[in-house]
Amino acid sequence: LQCEWAGQNRCRLNSSRVLMLLGQLERLNGEAVVTDIEAIRQVTGKILHLIQTQEKTRKEIMTKGSSGMEVILTSLENTRDLQTILNILCILNELLTVGGGRRVGVFVSKGGTAIVLQLLVQSGKEASPSEELMLHLHSLLAKVGPKDRKFGIKARLNGALNVTVNLLKQNLQNHKLLLPCLQVLRVYSSNSVNAVSLGKSGVVELMFKVIGPYSKKNTTLLKVALDTLAALLKSKMNARRAVDRAHVPALLAIYQDWHRNDTRHRHMLIRKSILGCIKNITNIKLGRKAFIDADGMRILYNTSAECLPVRTLDPLVNTSSLIMRKCFPKNRLPLPTIKSVFHHPLQHVPASGPVAQLYSQPPGVDDVVDESDDNEDTEVDTENDTENEEDEKDPRNDDIETDINKLRSRQVLTRPFEELRVYERFFREFSEDFQVKALPLLIEWEGLEQPNMTLQSPCLMLCLNKWAIKSPSFRLWSNGTVSSGMKELHSIPFGICWDGVCDKLELELVQGLSQLLLDASQSVNGGCGGEGPQEESGEQAVLEVPDTAALLPLHDPDLYLVMVKGTCSVPGYTEVAYPDYFGHVAPNFREHILERVYGVQRSKIFQDIERLIHPTDILDKVVYDLDLQSCPVIDDGECLKFNSQFESGNLRKAIQVRKFEYDLVLNSDINSNHYHQWFYFEVSSMRVGVPYRFNIINCEKSNSQFNYGMQVLMYSVQDAISGSPRWVRTGSDICYYKNHFSRSSIAAGGQKGKSYYTMTFTVTFQHKDDVCYFAYHYPYTYSTLKMHLQKLRALRTPQIYYRQEQLCETLGGNCCPLLTITAMPESTGNDHICQFRNRPVVFLTARVHPGETNASWVMKGTLEFLMSSSPLAQSLRESYIFKIIPMLNPDGVINGNHRCSLSGEDLNRQWLTPSAELHPTIYHTKSLLQYLTAIGRTPLVFCDYHGHSRKKNVFMYGCSIKETVWQTNVSASSSDLQEDLGYRTLPKLLSQLAPAFSLSSCSFVVERSKESTARVVVWREIGVQRSYTMESTLCGCDQGKYKGLQIGTRELEEMGSQFCVALLRLRRLTSPLELRNHHTHLLDMESDLIETRCNITCPTTYVMEEDEPAFLEEVDYSAESDEENDPDADHAHLDPSSDPEFTHQDSLT
Ligand SMILES: [Zn+2]
Repeated sequence: LQCEWAGQNRCRLNSSRVLMLLGQLERLNGEAVVTDIEAIRQVTGKILHLIQTQEKTRKEIMTKGSSGMEVILTSLENTRDLQTILNILCILNELLTVGGGRRVGVFVSKGGTAIVLQLLVQSGKEASPSEELMLHLHSLLAKVGPKDRKFGIKARLNGALNVTVNLLKQNLQNHKLLLPCLQVLRVYSSNSVNAVSLGKSGVVELMFKVIGPYSKKNTTLLKVALDTLAALLKSKMNARRAVDRAHVPALLAIYQDWHRNDTRHRHMLIRKSILGCIKNITNIKLGRKAFIDADGMRILYNTSAECLPVRTLDPLVNTSSLIMRKCFPKNRLPLPTIKSVFHHPLQHVPASGPVAQLYSQPPGVDDVVDESDDNEDTEVDTENDTENEEDEKDPRNDDIETDINKLRSRQVLTRPFEELRVYERFFREFSEDFQVKALPLLIEWEGLEQPNMTLQSPCLMLCLNKWAIKSPSFRLWSNGTVSSGMKELHSIPFGICWDGVCDKLELELVQGLSQLLLDASQSVNGGCGGEGPQEESGEQAVLEVPDTAALLPLHDPDLYLVMVKGTCSVPGYTEVAYPDYFGHVAPNFREHILERVYGVQRSKIFQDIERLIHPTDILDKVVYDLDLQSCPVIDDGECLKFNSQFESGNLRKAIQVRKFEYDLVLNSDINSNHYHQWFYFEVSSMRVGVPYRFNIINCEKSNSQFNYGMQVLMYSVQDAISGSPRWVRTGSDICYYKNHFSRSSIAAGGQKGKSYYTMTFTVTFQHKDDVCYFAYHYPYTYSTLKMHLQKLRALRTPQIYYRQEQLCETLGGNCCPLLTITAMPESTGNDHICQFRNRPVVFLTARVHPGETNASWVMKGTLEFLMSSSPLAQSLRESYIFKIIPMLNPDGVINGNHRCSLSGEDLNRQWLTPSAELHPTIYHTKSLLQYLTAIGRTPLVFCDYHGHSRKKNVFMYGCSIKETVWQTNVSASSSDLQEDLGYRTLPKLLSQLAPAFSLSSCSFVVERSKESTARVVVWREIGVQRSYTMESTLCGCDQGKYKGLQIGTRELEEMGSQFCVALLRLRRLTSPLELRNHHTHLLDMESDLIETRCNITCPTTYVMEEDEPAFLEEVDYSAESDEENDPDADHAHLDPSSDPEFTHQDSLT
């Protein structure tokens, strides 16, 4: 310290001269009129000399707390003497040349910019301003401008723009003066209002005079002029002006000239700047048209192709591809309508909203495209100042609930108890006295008749002829028998407990199966004489069904077929997909999150652009089309065969575009015209060893985990038959990007000019004559659920109390099952019965969103745990009464919807005011909860299982007033709010117990947009403090034991069982009885759980719904024609080691 002090002192002594001079200058400034011009000239001259010769004097002037800058600026402001002014400008130029932003910051904060700009304006008024003065002024402004955020406004308000412009016009050949003037102009132009005004002064034309063909001379100047031009062309008015004067072909010609001549790539930045001009000009429709007319697509395509091998030219390829995508003529989706191909007329149409809109649409309206796609450039450049970037609201905060009243629990009983009383029947456990001799589990049939079936032995051997395997999905019954089959369907008792008749029934079910099989091939038990249409081959193959029943305790192919018969689908499906029939045995190998191949998206986009450039290469052959009465079945050996007419399937159309490339169109949710994300379809007739490219071309979300290492799932029937019945993560060259198919404003929620997205993947098939299935995520059909419930029911022991009831019927005529699971009372003694009845309730729901199949797998894990014989499970059952609705949206699941129910609405946005007619499952689920609250049995925990398409890991959303308030700037001091921190405990426990669970991804903020979700309504209206949404990733984990791996059903099921373990621990922590016993220990533990995460200063981060932030792949995410924010507008990526496609990922996920 002493040393440092001494050093400073010495410095002060040595530089006393400059301080002395500054003192003199300050005194001179103080004089009313500067009379002694000579003196001030001398002083400033000496200071300049010192500065030029001794760096330390610069430091001395700029040192913190020094008034040097102020003194110098005051002198500049006061003096009229040219020599003095020049001296001072030189001093400032010297001072600001080094020292980076801080020195400029001091200059700006002392008002330097305005002083220099005023000087510029004054000098500009003179008849012949000194060239030297102008040079110095502009040099100084060129240094200051880029670092003064208000520079553009200041320049305009001071009237400096025209001074510079006039100077430029007069000095086009004077390169010495031209450069600093252009540099200043470049900064002026970056302000949008300035750009308009400069354009009116003819600066665009001026810039076109400066730029020109390839030349080694004046490249710095050229670069600045190009950047200025690019900035000016961001103004639509300027762009139009440039198009009108035929500058688009000129720019393309200049670009080609540089491309040809810059063989050693020394001037990549200039070439990039030319592209920058083209990029901005093509933001307007006229510009895009001019670009196409000038053969821009071919020019940029060809130049890019030549640039591709040189990695350092990537910025050129990327910008070119951006321009080409933008100019790519918007195409129409190859559909007659975007409404679902299947119809389910609603008896009650919602009064307002998208469904009402859909129903009020006049017939014959083309909803696939509309005039919005023309992207008219009607907007006029803004004349208002738009520079208040600082004041820009953090968009994340917009959605946070700030109304304290809405955040407070308002457990008001909104319905009279009399109305809720009907739900009493679902809570028999509250009144069960077990005094009757009858088995407590024997529950009536709820009015359903017993099936009339007889016994047969299980049938694991399935005979299929060659036809069957070739023409894939198992056909359940031939067309002639559908109706009778359907009748039989309804008689199949699903959702009932067959207590005491269980074994008999299972055998009966098998008999039902054999009937089904007979319908299909009449061949099951009596040999394999299939009678399919292609039977003439005579070849028969006996295919042994993989014995998944042995590997999968809850799976039984035969039982599955029976369940399918009881499932009502809108299309009336008669086929079963093999994967659902055989079952899925999770593979033992690890499936890593895929590392993205460099440039994959770019190369896919180039292939798309080739469609336009080489149209004759495109086949455009429709090979599957549900919109046609007879869906084409092309069997010419030249194309794949597609099918998805089975439960949860949703492929609408397949078009062969190239020999091994297909465009696929997904069906929208029923009674909706969008929500395309989930997919499930079948492919056959493939060639072995050839990479096939599949493009799902009507995706809607702006980003996807397919950009972050997620693969699609594939199921090979050949593999299944040879002993590996399983879904595997597969596909290479996977990416997700905005495409050139336009989305009508109807489909885009009123937004105009939006495009669809393409999800592309490439697969090489391994087996000949295989039938393969592709899915977005591990399918889990409604029939699968029913099968699992049957099997679970069979796992009952005398210790388990299990009831399955029909909560209600869905719009599609399916049953929504409600399960009650707890432990039987230890005895029929009063104490035990009392304990039994008074166990706290845990209420679980899942699969409100059909596309989130992972939620069902987690639920399966929970259910299996609850029905298991382990002591933990028994202990858990003794602790709680579980009320579980494992599938809130059966219809959506069955019909291959992604998000909605048959009413075309997102059921998880209906919880505030569910309609008994339109949203029966939600209405009755909420009623159950209202009933519980009404009788004083509000659940301890409510959790709704979901899947998350944009984030990794498993995590929870909860509700907390405090955390919500912390995230906003609401002045209400959070100390006023009383809140129990118990909502933290369960997620905390889960993070300790479940490897896939990530506490840091959890959020407890209440968002406005979620006000009608289960989580928020159950928290606020029902009063469940521990009300959660549990979100499971569709992709994989980036932390914990499964870091770097994609998630599979094993991990999802584990999550479900660990959820149970966490509930058991929660019980131990919250049980008053046990607290009495282990008072201190448990209190410590609870406080520890709370302390570690819940101290006031550290609320969890607020997580946006749209989750994984916009993927910043440099090129491809900003191809919207009106997109202004090009992430690399100002800095070229020259570092070849940095892959612009991927470097952002880690920091953003
Ligand atoms: Zn969901």
